Amino acid sequence: MTKPWKPYACTVPSSGVTGTCSVLSTVHHVTHTEPALRILADGKVTRGLIYDESILNDSRTTVVWLSPNNWYDGSRYGCVQFSFDFADIVARRKIYWVEVREYKRHAYRFIISDQDLSKLPITPYDATKEEGPLRQVGEVWYWNSEHTAEFLLDSSLLLHYCKKIDFIKHHDKFCAAPGGCGELGHDGTNPAGRVLAFLLSRGFRGFNDNLIVTDPKTALSTAAERGILRAYEQLSADLSGPIKSNDNVDAALRAALLQLAIGEATLAQATAKLIGSDDLLCGRLRELVKRHFKLEATALKF
Ligand SMILES: [Zn+2]
Repeated sequence: MTKPWKPYACTVPSSGVTGTCSVLSTVHHVTHTEPALRILADGKVTRGLIYDESILNDSRTTVVWLSPNNWYDGSRYGCVQFSFDFADIVARRKIYWVEVREYKRHAYRFIISDQDLSKLPITPYDATKEEGPLRQVGEVWYWNSEHTAEFLLDSSLLLHYCKKIDFIKHHDKFCAAPGGCGELGHDGTNPAGRVLAFLLSRGFRGFNDNLIVTDPKTALSTAAERGILRAYEQLSADLSGPIKSNDNVDAALRAALLQLAIGEATLAQATAKLIGSDDLLCGRLRELVKRHFKLEATALKF
């Protein structure tokens, strides 16, 4: 019998062979802003039921979705992207073939687990031996990027393993969230503003490494700068309020950032209006960023 993954096989590059497989180093969990804030508060991506059609629907299997795909037309899953090393995900776990979903672009699915999954209708898959869309040669992983790869991790995923947080475009028309979302066609700027406002107002420093780059020099990532600038843009508006001392501005600023984070932009602006001037707001936000990240926000140097 032909193995179900055979039609999706790719060739690993080797000496004299160009190969059709792509190197698989990073996988992403992409989600909307609200769940992203929950993930940051929990410090982990919590697994959930599989909502779209799958042979695993009846089993009530709960998973965390991961994919190496870059969404050319925008993601259907949201604008906030958490990236992980695939090697960390598969370490000490087994891989099983699940199915192919025949969307316009076929999606092949694997489940990754350290549990005994013999009761599920899935097939063990050895990436070092099988000719399929997921291959392993030595320490290097490969995937067939002609199709969509979906990895279902059957455990929660600690953000301790997260390497990078980024903000990407949402698809113009399609959303995978049950009931849809208000982020169709968004380019990720507002979600970036909300996530950065959340981290700064709550003082969550555990994710600083995911928002800092070290090459060519240590600096805030483009994603972080974008979020900080967006938060400033949303709060500044020819401010001329009564609050002028640093301590009082800091208190109002944190309150406004927290309101912005939870999606209450109008209330956040009303709070920010208490601040004496845009310059005061900018200066104290710059100071807050510096205390938080131990780095300067280039985006706030006007
Ligand atoms: Zn959506």
